[in-house]
Amino acid sequence: NADTAMYEVKKNGKNGFQFYSHELNEHLQEKIELENDLRKAIPNDELFVYYQPQIRAEDSQMIGVEALVRWGHPTKGTISPGVFIPIAEETGMIYELGTWVLREACRQMKQWHDAGGPLIPISVNLSTQQFHQTHLIDYIKDILEETGLEPQYLELEITESMMMDPTISSHILNELTAYGIRISLDDFGTGYSSLSYLKLLPIHKLKIDRSFIRDITENDNDKAIVSTIISMAQYLKMDVIAEGIETKEQLDILMDNDCQKIQGYYFSRPLPADEVEDVFFAPLRLKEKRRLTDV
Ligand code: C2E
Ligand code: MG
Ligand code: MG
Ligand code: MG
Repeated sequence: NADTAMYEVKKNGKNGFQFYSHELNEHLQEKIELENDLRKAIPNDELFVYYQPQIRAEDSQMIGVEALVRWGHPTKGTISPGVFIPIAEETGMIYELGTWVLREACRQMKQWHDAGGPLIPISVNLSTQQFHQTHLIDYIKDILEETGLEPQYLELEITESMMMDPTISSHILNELTAYGIRISLDDFGTGYSSLSYLKLLPIHKLKIDRSFIRDITENDNDKAIVSTIISMAQYLKMDVIAEGIETKEQLDILMDNDCQKIQGYYFSRPLPADEVEDVFFAPLRLKEKRRLTDV
């Protein structure tokens, strides 16, 4: 709009406007570059998945694994999903990217199951657009059939913002859960949606957001919120897990409040697949070694 452009020029003065437009250009340039690079990321095999263990604190058993995508950019190094997922969402690349992650995560978990690893589920994050994509259930069924992973070993992580319209979300969630897929509510407590949907929708698990855990040892308000979420989950007969546990002190508070399930750097950072295998198969390998020395 010409009027607004004029106004900008007058308001900022000539130099101010040039400065602004220079910054904007640089920012846009960089974004367009990333967008173009991202288009080639899948065909060029640059995406990979890290896996973060979910642990039961009382016996340190691994009870699940969350798949977290990474992008090994050819010149910029590893780029975090916080940077490229929003670009993928804006450009519509999220469908292709999301499908790739889902298939890779299911394939990997099935391979671990087949190799004698523990029969635990894989959690995969869904973006809002994926959640609302038509025939979501059919396309997930296809991936499960193709990879051979049984539906009860797939857990989809969704967020509160996807629950804004309970009529739509209940339809989608009922289809997914009827097929045996589990639903986990990620970043719980940070959204703006009403709590009333919790009793209406088939949700298996609440994931307490990291922002409530960070200061929990000093902040009584955070402690109260976390303790309330845990009680609520128990009343609603839902599973509950806390994310972002980094210290023993944080872990102790969670355990005191009857939350046994933990995900965080304290137990493990997200790991490449072969390092997860070391954890999964260490007991098996140990047995094999003993058998060898027995002979
Ligand atoms: P999220 O689903 O809430 O995943 C947890 C994030 O917290 C991960 O960051 C993980 O590395 C980090 N984290 C775990 N434990 C700790 C801890 O103790 N301390 C701290 N400071 N951080 C911890 P990451 O991998 O960078 O992923 C960021 C977000 O990107 C994810 O948040 C998720 O929303 C999104 N994302 C990741 N992978 C995918 C994907 O395949 N599809 C979609 N749609 N989104 C994804
Ligand atoms: Mg998640
Ligand atoms: Mg989260
Ligand atoms: Mg998140």
